[in-house]
Amino acid sequence: MFDVLILGGGPAGLTAAIYAQRAGLDSAVLEKNAAGGQITTTHLLENYPGFPEGISGYDFSMDLLKQAERFGVSFIQEEAVKVSLEGEVKSVVTDRNTYEARTVIIACGVSPRELGIKGEEEFRGMGVSYCATCDGAFFRGLPVAVVGGGDTALEDALYLSDMASEVYLIHRRNEFRAQSYLVEKAREKENIHFVLNCVPVEIAGGFDLEKIAVEDKETHEIRALDVAGVFIAAGQIPHTEIFKDSVETDKAGYIIAGESTETNIPGVYAAGDVRVKTLRQVVTAVADGAVAGTNAYNYIKGIR
Ligand code: NAP
Repeated sequence: MFDVLILGGGPAGLTAAIYAQRAGLDSAVLEKNAAGGQITTTHLLENYPGFPEGISGYDFSMDLLKQAERFGVSFIQEEAVKVSLEGEVKSVVTDRNTYEARTVIIACGVSPRELGIKGEEEFRGMGVSYCATCDGAFFRGLPVAVVGGGDTALEDALYLSDMASEVYLIHRRNEFRAQSYLVEKAREKENIHFVLNCVPVEIAGGFDLEKIAVEDKETHEIRALDVAGVFIAAGQIPHTEIFKDSVETDKAGYIIAGESTETNIPGVYAAGDVRVKTLRQVVTAVADGAVAGTNAYNYIKGIR
């Protein structure tokens, strides 16, 4: 039995592990993929304090993992499929084993939202991508589209503008959700073209992806943009499906937990992008991890 079982090996989960293990708890991180979470695909983490030149998301993740392993955290590469969280002993069933723990920290993060339009599935991995930094290099010298109006879409457009010939930034409104400095930076780029107040309706092509069709929300006119790649940055969906019968979530599926990271179940905490919060950033994820790891310690020791 572990003292703390942490579900998810991104910045929140790894930081929770560092805090818990360093405090003397026996901690394990369960992660179905490699360690690091979503941030591993970020080209440059520019706004994490303490790195004046920025740091690549991958390097940052690997350093976090090294730090957790130095304290003796166990890293288990398995997928949690079922949980039982009530009572003093929690259990987590994975695709291979069942683990027991006195506390559980949910740090499962989020995954990209799909548009659900024609051609999206057909061209997935063949021109349709959800990660500009992973796949951008395949489109060097070619025209691409980015769908979305949040920070990710703007960052993706900026990143792609250095390698693609043209970048069409397709957003369904005239105003952006993204931070204004990113919008300004994108406006300064000659090869980023704003396609606003338009919704994507179809992705099409022959063997290769060739077009994305967009509908103007006011005129209902449909026009096709010639592109070789479509990068979808339409927000995220929290990985909370297996918790929904026991842990309280909001309508969108984010776990209801405040800054204390405490959920409705004693000894169960939610850290990082998976919980209801206003700012989903690495810096807030690691802060959550620190709080959750410390609160797991306090819970086990009967403090507070
Ligand atoms: P987001 O902020 O939720 O933005 C999603 C965008 O996609 C919105 O503009 C939304 O339009 C659009 N959208 C949603 N569904 C759509 C659909 N079916 N069709 C077309 N467009 C659709 O998501 P995000 O950009 O991935 O950011 C997620 C979080 O990470 C945010 O808190 C963000 O601040 C943070 N983040 C921060 C940084 C940074 O600071 N460097 C970088 C990346 C992400 P509407 O605006 O009309 O809803």
